[in-house]
Amino acid sequence: MLPAAHKHVLDLVAYEPGKPVEELAREMGLAPGDIIKLASNENPLGPSPKALAAMRDALERAHFYPDGGGWALRGAIADQLGLDRANVILGNGSNEIIEFLGHAFLAPGAEVVTARHAFAVYTLMAQLFGATTVEVDDPGYIHDLEAMLAAITPRTRQVFIANPNNPTGTLVGQAEIDAFMDRVPDHVVVVFDEAYYEFLDTPPDVLKYVRAGRNVVVMRTFSKIQGLAALRIGYGLAPAHLAQVLQKTRQPFNANAIAQAGAAAGLADTEHMRLTRELTLEGRNYLQAEFAALGLEFIPSHANFVLVRVGDGDAVFQALLRQGIIVRAMRSYKLPEWIRVSVGTMEQNRRFAAALRALAADGALTRGELVPVA
Ligand SMILES: *Cc1c(COP(=O)(O)O)cnc(C)c1O
Repeated sequence: MLPAAHKHVLDLVAYEPGKPVEELAREMGLAPGDIIKLASNENPLGPSPKALAAMRDALERAHFYPDGGGWALRGAIADQLGLDRANVILGNGSNEIIEFLGHAFLAPGAEVVTARHAFAVYTLMAQLFGATTVEVDDPGYIHDLEAMLAAITPRTRQVFIANPNNPTGTLVGQAEIDAFMDRVPDHVVVVFDEAYYEFLDTPPDVLKYVRAGRNVVVMRTFSKIQGLAALRIGYGLAPAHLAQVLQKTRQPFNANAIAQAGAAAGLADTEHMRLTRELTLEGRNYLQAEFAALGLEFIPSHANFVLVRVGDGDAVFQALLRQGIIVRAMRSYKLPEWIRVSVGTMEQNRRFAAALRALAADGALTRGELVPVA
């Protein structure tokens, strides 16, 4: 017999990740090399060659525990941003920073404010700690910061602003953020999730709120533009008084040494980031033009993926899988008519677009009773 577990834990519905290439290969009897994965917003160029070299080097020392304090990487991040090492906390992916926030601030009765179509992990983590998520409508799939402000109660502990947001790819601008920060009460931690920050042309500045000592945490990651998703390394930026609290919640060696070495080297490789940004922009423009040509509604994206309305998202997801193309169905995000596709190499983008065109020609994109959009 199982000892009693928390009800809110038993009720948890696990996060639905992008389908791994190897899993589809097994299921469909395909060669992994014939499968393309455009499902998890990974970098199609892979890691920076400099990061790879640093990681190979670090492997030789894999018998040592990592520097749990992350001295070198935290220092490199702080230097690049004009912050102090005390402002930086490393996570096993930036997802772990969300968990630290839960450990530090959440309990049954606490509330977490998110946008209706925000990144799923905020709600998952809130539930893990028995807290309640208050989902705020996001007209046009854009976070409505005024409405999120209005949703704050004395029980609110955290507000999540994903900027750009995943899966919508939408961005809130500086003016809205400043107006929000002018009025948000101090008992709330404002979390800016900037997983796709590096893809922006003119990113809003929220680090000024870290420097000003406000109760904000800015999260960034090496999983996206840096192409190190497998290594699980991300970070939070916060005023020292807040970073210190989060540091207490983490396991001693949460960020492994290989990841720390790769991340530090990748951070210095501005050329690899430039190439990634260029490829992303080209591919995003291409995909959005293809969607427009097919008459499909899509949300103009600020990140390395695009959300597109195909009618029956699950059916299109399955049809693409049969051709060895993995995208993301969006039912779990309350968007059953949509799929999200990550920008790949141009060759991968073309293969995906050709498959989608073929589905459109078969009428498969309208059988989902796509309602015309006003
Ligand atoms: C991908 C992503 C993350 C980052 O996840 P890691 O744990 O760093 O791999 C965080 N937030 C959003 C919105 C994302 O899309």
